Amino acid sequence: PVEDRSRIEMKRVVTSAMSTKEVDEFLKRPSQKSNEAIVGLVKPIVEDVRINGDAAVLKYTHKFEKATSLTSPVIKAPFPAELMKLSPEVQEAIDVSIGNIQRFHAAQKGSNDTLKMETMPGVVCSRFSRAIEGVGLYVPGGTAVLPSTAMMLGVPAMVAGCKDIVLASPPRSDGSISPEIVYVAHKIGAKSIVLAGGAQAVAAMAYGTESINKVDKILGPGNQFVTAAKMLVSNDTSAGVSIDMPAGPSEVLVIADKSANPAFVASDLLSQAEHGVDSQVVLIAVDLSEKELLAIEDEVDAQARALPRMDIVRGAIEHSVTFVVKDIKEAMDLSNKYAPEHLILQIADAEATVDLVQNAGSVFIGAWTPESVGDYSAGVNHSLPTYGYAKQYSGVNLGSFLKHITSSNLTADGLLGLAKTVETLAALEGLDAHKRAVSIRVAQMQKDRS
Ligand code: NAD
Repeated sequence: PVEDRSRIEMKRVVTSAMSTKEVDEFLKRPSQKSNEAIVGLVKPIVEDVRINGDAAVLKYTHKFEKATSLTSPVIKAPFPAELMKLSPEVQEAIDVSIGNIQRFHAAQKGSNDTLKMETMPGVVCSRFSRAIEGVGLYVPGGTAVLPSTAMMLGVPAMVAGCKDIVLASPPRSDGSISPEIVYVAHKIGAKSIVLAGGAQAVAAMAYGTESINKVDKILGPGNQFVTAAKMLVSNDTSAGVSIDMPAGPSEVLVIADKSANPAFVASDLLSQAEHGVDSQVVLIAVDLSEKELLAIEDEVDAQARALPRMDIVRGAIEHSVTFVVKDIKEAMDLSNKYAPEHLILQIADAEATVDLVQNAGSVFIGAWTPESVGDYSAGVNHSLPTYGYAKQYSGVNLGSFLKHITSSNLTADGLLGLAKTVETLAALEGLDAHKRAVSIRVAQMQKDRS
């Protein structure tokens, strides 16, 4: 094939030259492929694993991962030291990152602390949290090694106190799994590693097999087979399993003004673009001159050409957009409408502008905060809502591994004070037994007190 040497650039949209409706068209994400075909492929795999357990899991691992030497789909803790041999630099990098992720997620405990209050005299309501007992963490395999995903899912699960942490990741064709992932599994106290990927891994964790424990919630990103399987099992009431959130291609939206360093802006756009050709990359340029815009575009082109993944970057950048807007207010309105997974603010007074953020998965503030720090090591989570779901979903956090239980505790006088209210509403709904559960107690109380 002939090498494509054309300039790598994003298309420009000058918002003042367009109607709102036209601008909105450019904000739209490409519609995702029909799910039906994928569900058609995934459903029989899920069924097979539900019915045939380990044998089915192994069969698909032999087929998709070509790991035909594998005879068991799981390794159990304690994991052998020879499976997690790392260079000192890699181990140090993982340890530092885990430390920060652990500190930030442990600090989230405060907001989930036990709550206890009196709504009326003698009517005490409380709320307390408990860790979800069994969690299945999917770490995609395929092309890349992703210990960062294992850290981002595993550390909060450990901090929350989940009893049974199961990590699943497709093995390599020789049946092995990357030592980085085994090391992270060891550090977070995972009980087992499922050596499988895709729908078979999701089904194994949802239903359990002879050797794989059934979990209560499945979290983690993955390709369309993984996503479809997560949707399927979470819709099956017999599985009794929940999932984290819908997943789509990764995205970044960068807002840059005159104060931004063009090379920094370009590097952030490209660090997203290299994820895959379906990555979404958006730049909002605030009140930039033609010369300033060109400086960023030249940097994008020059830096992209130097990347080993240039072809992927070219694909992603080709369907990416620069919005040229007049002020920060307009930029933030557009950004909130798009609801990016990652929002980078390379603007003067970036910190103050955070007040205007309404919809985003995670915000990176100021020139010295590239997305990369959040992807790996700052402490914030990188498992975030995509495809506009930042409007209603949070990224993975400590709360993703907890559920809240409420309790009420009434004194006799408390019940007396509330009796008429409850009886009235129970009668209104025609639920006489509900009404009687109150009146029978009030009658007893009156007898005791007379
Ligand atoms: P993966 O682990 O998601 O999927 C591998 C599995 O796909 C295989 O085990 C196999 O079971 C299944 N599969 C492949 N072809 C199939 C077929 N024809 N029929 C049925 N099943 C089939 O690995 P991947 O494919 O490399 O994808 C990784 C994904 O994870 C990418 O989409 C990437 O964008 C995403 N990702 C997202 C984040 C994030 O934080 N948002 C992080 C890392 C990766």
